[in-house]
Amino acid sequence: MEKIKIAIQKSGRLSEKSIDLLTECGIRISNGTRKLKTEAGNFPMEILFLRDDDIPQYVEQGVADIGILGQNEVWEKDKNVDIVEELGFSNCRLSLAIPKDETYDDLKYFENKRIATSYPKILEKFFTQKGIDVSIEELGGSVEIATGIGLADAIFDIVSTGSTLIMNGLKEVETVVKSQAVLISNKNLSDRKKQLLEELLFRIKAYKNGQGKKYVLLNAPNEVIPDIIKLLPGMRSPSILPLADKGWSSVHSVINDDDFWEIIDELKRMGAEGILVIPIEKMIL
Ligand code: ATP
Ligand code: MG
Repeated sequence: MEKIKIAIQKSGRLSEKSIDLLTECGIRISNGTRKLKTEAGNFPMEILFLRDDDIPQYVEQGVADIGILGQNEVWEKDKNVDIVEELGFSNCRLSLAIPKDETYDDLKYFENKRIATSYPKILEKFFTQKGIDVSIEELGGSVEIATGIGLADAIFDIVSTGSTLIMNGLKEVETVVKSQAVLISNKNLSDRKKQLLEELLFRIKAYKNGQGKKYVLLNAPNEVIPDIIKLLPGMRSPSILPLADKGWSSVHSVINDDDFWEIIDELKRMGAEGILVIPIEKMIL
């Protein structure tokens, strides 16, 4: 039976999260990450462990059918592949940074400046669009030290918290793009592989839908139930079950983590009791 081949990062920031995602999708990876290639225990899937830089090319060529990597790398490599799903982890941004004591007004600052980066294509496209001439110094890594050693006037690099920039005496002045991990696919999958990709996507979506949400159960007097329903819209609508104790009902619904404390406070004020909050593992909409 044909298997779908997925490429994930061998070692780096995406490796563990990629394996975690597959595990959440019920796909067991038995052999750890030491080997170059392994097979899933209970899904027709082969896993290839590669450098993230190589994944777009391998997926374009069909050496791998699908892959998990940062959008930033997909844009930079600019290969002929489809981005099929945003995965919601490894969020970061690609930003321009300059020495912290420089005065900065706008993008014209960069006119004729030397900018060090590992993302020359994204950067060139950006400045061409803005009509600003810059000279780009391509570096494989440690971009943040480039200004300190006199290699460049500015840098263009991945930022998440900004602490690396501060440590190197830099300040972030422009965010060019935001990035996250994505699932990419070859454009000419066989019907069987398309079907396997659909199955995987179904599972990924079920997992993503449950993220950041909680299941809430509570008891409340019947007269406040209409107000509670307004507060807890649920997926379709909340379930209301009568309690053995007359005049009371139990309400079951789903809430966002972000609204959690606010909603709980409000529910208590309305007279809700016995509020239970449970994590959601998967959610099929
Ligand atoms: P490889 O050896 O596979 O080429 P790498 O050194 O290019 O690895 P990593 O540093 O492991 O790459 O980062 C992989 C991806 O993780 C990046 O392309 C980006 O999408 C994301 N990423 C990088 N830095 C951060 C960060 N500080 N916070 C969140 N995500 C990040
Ligand atoms: Mg890389």
